Amino acid sequence: MNAHDSEIISGMLTGKGYRISDTLEGADIILFNTCSVRAHAEARVWGKVGELKKIKNEKLKIKIGILGCMAQTYKEKIFERLPHVDLVCGTANIYEIPKLLGSLKTREKVLAVDNNQRDTEKKIDISERENKAKAFVSIMEGCNNYCSYCIVPFARGPEVSRPVSIIIDEIKRLVDDGVKEVMLLGQNVNSYGVEIKNPRLPRQSGGQEKSKIKIGFVKLLEKINKIKGLERIRFMTSHPKDASLELFTAMRDLEKVCEHLHLPVQSGSNRILKLMNRIYTRDDYLRKIDSLRKIVKDCAVTTDIIVGFPSENEKDFNDTVKLMREVGFENAFIFKYSTRKGTKAALLKDDTEDKIKQQRNQILLKLQEDISRKKNEALIGKTLEVLIEDVNKKNKAEFIGHTGQARLVVFEKDDKSLGDIVNIKITSCTGHTLKGEIE
Ligand code: SF4
Repeated sequence: MNAHDSEIISGMLTGKGYRISDTLEGADIILFNTCSVRAHAEARVWGKVGELKKIKNEKLKIKIGILGCMAQTYKEKIFERLPHVDLVCGTANIYEIPKLLGSLKTREKVLAVDNNQRDTEKKIDISERENKAKAFVSIMEGCNNYCSYCIVPFARGPEVSRPVSIIIDEIKRLVDDGVKEVMLLGQNVNSYGVEIKNPRLPRQSGGQEKSKIKIGFVKLLEKINKIKGLERIRFMTSHPKDASLELFTAMRDLEKVCEHLHLPVQSGSNRILKLMNRIYTRDDYLRKIDSLRKIVKDCAVTTDIIVGFPSENEKDFNDTVKLMREVGFENAFIFKYSTRKGTKAALLKDDTEDKIKQQRNQILLKLQEDISRKKNEALIGKTLEVLIEDVNKKNKAEFIGHTGQARLVVFEKDDKSLGDIVNIKITSCTGHTLKGEIE
């Protein structure tokens, strides 16, 4: 979501005549689009922006901005902590950035952190994409789930969906521009169109406003599946409570939807899942995976896991290890818990020593590496369809791309072009990458 926001910001600014500088020294404006999900990400921003004080002292005209979730979370406190910052712009205000930069010509500091939601009908400039063959498309923003550890509902606000026509039009323009694959983005894509805006306010008070969008996520997938020239559809992220048989059936029946589901489990322990307010048990999760694999043949499943949540003991951790073995994820993103101020979990004691968190993190990373390697080895000798996405930056004689199951494949270039879908015979692998040759 943040990477896509950065594309949107770059697109808006280049559309207004700004150019992207290759070097920090060559820039007149330096913008940091920030993430608040983990303490580590924030610490890096505080450090990196702090280092810019020297550049600002030498080149007074330079403008420095902090955008996104940290801006939304810390607001004017950023100016107190980093007085050389000129602009603080929250998640709901990013479309105003060109105007806000303009106002810095007459004002010393600009703060834009309205709690209002983004303009969902905004036509997004999609010109500044890192990848020409695939693109992100935001379908909804915010989250109503309030998992106890998560800052997102506070930083991004309640769920709100973009209108169908705006999404379809954006994808058509992307396809006209050569895009073959779209990744539909949202904190909780399965809630597309069914949200109640501002769930924290009681309905009787008139504080809740129902979405005007009349279709749900599966119907949206059906509409996108009909777009001519589009080859692949992916989506991220799904909450296990909303991953339904209807969704799995659509994944099977809609030929452009990839056989890959990212379904964050977070923990294999029922006790921890309850403390996390995840609203499912490990058995619920395992049953969903079982149904998915029965319905969608060869569906890859990836996940997110947090280690060291408050009070996580050896038994809880081992339950996660067992769940990982049982599911056999294609990939897992494993994070050490860090307290996020303002969340419910922040009221619990962060009582797992960092050394233990680190050990648990390493154990799960190693386990996942072994599982992924075995799964990749089983593909040697098979032929897989791969979308050519880019030239391999480490070896310019090679292309890289992904299979429908989101496996990264590297292969020697020939006369094919970016955006082509090719058959690749797999010849070798590591835990993360398949290597092959064009058939
Ligand atoms: S569903 Fe995801 S974004 Fe929403 S609160 Fe939970 S972890 Fe955060």
